[in-house]
Amino acid sequence: MAPNPIDTLAAELKTRIHDTSVVNWNSFIARISSQFAEPAIANEMWFVRQVAKCRLSYLIALDEMRRGAYFDAWCGFERLELDLRDILKNPVYNVEFFAVPQLTRTVERWQSIFPYRLFASPEMVIKAEDCSICSSPVDPWSDCGHEVGKLYEGQVCHRVVREMELLSISIVQDPVQKMAVLDPYSPNYDYLPLDFVLARLPHPFFEWRVDRTTASQPLSSLGLLADDEPCPCGSREVHGACCKGKQMIVLPHLEFWFGDFGDDARRDVEIVRHGDE
Ligand SMILES: [Zn+2]
Ligand SMILES: [Zn+2]
Repeated sequence: MAPNPIDTLAAELKTRIHDTSVVNWNSFIARISSQFAEPAIANEMWFVRQVAKCRLSYLIALDEMRRGAYFDAWCGFERLELDLRDILKNPVYNVEFFAVPQLTRTVERWQSIFPYRLFASPEMVIKAEDCSICSSPVDPWSDCGHEVGKLYEGQVCHRVVREMELLSISIVQDPVQKMAVLDPYSPNYDYLPLDFVLARLPHPFFEWRVDRTTASQPLSSLGLLADDEPCPCGSREVHGACCKGKQMIVLPHLEFWFGDFGDDARRDVEIVRHGDE
């Protein structure tokens, strides 16, 4: 019996998992899509394609950051987070084997050093929604049996909102939907931590992590601070009502670790101050 085409593709995915070429990933994904997907292997096809798409999206997001398109990269990471969640919920193959948890952690790390803190969060009432698998209406009295996030013959079940009412929009710090950044192109955002990490990665899939610490330094080293500007200590108070008059000021620091965190990992520590703009 000839080997199943999906097993061949999965084996190839494994060998190219650290491929850093966008062109190669695009042609690999095109080859998967061109395969005739029999229902019997639709879930396997979905898995291989989804992992490949996530690797590609990650490379694109890194490229966007390098070009200074930080908000595009942020939105890419948000979609990637959701796609990775779908894979983790549907482990058709061993997710560790295809570095899915590892990529999930890396995406979280990137998101944690973006400067965006305030988001517009819509509060809405969903009045009618359908199941994306069978199109039946979803309501408390009927249940089509399809579970949100679960894979059915190569398709993940989502809710399709047919009718909703927007109640209000509030400003929040920890949104469900991360793309609604307030004023994403403001020149006041500090992207230094992102540039700092990018400059030190020998290749896009290189491992790194970040620790949040604090460090104190003489207040005088920060130059003249106006009473009404946000205090650099990150308290969200104005400086005049916060650290003004102190000898030392405690500033947030990000401490970055680069390296392979295996058994005899060499750890390079670099420190950058995360000035709160
Ligand atoms: Zn359904
Ligand atoms: Zn302060």
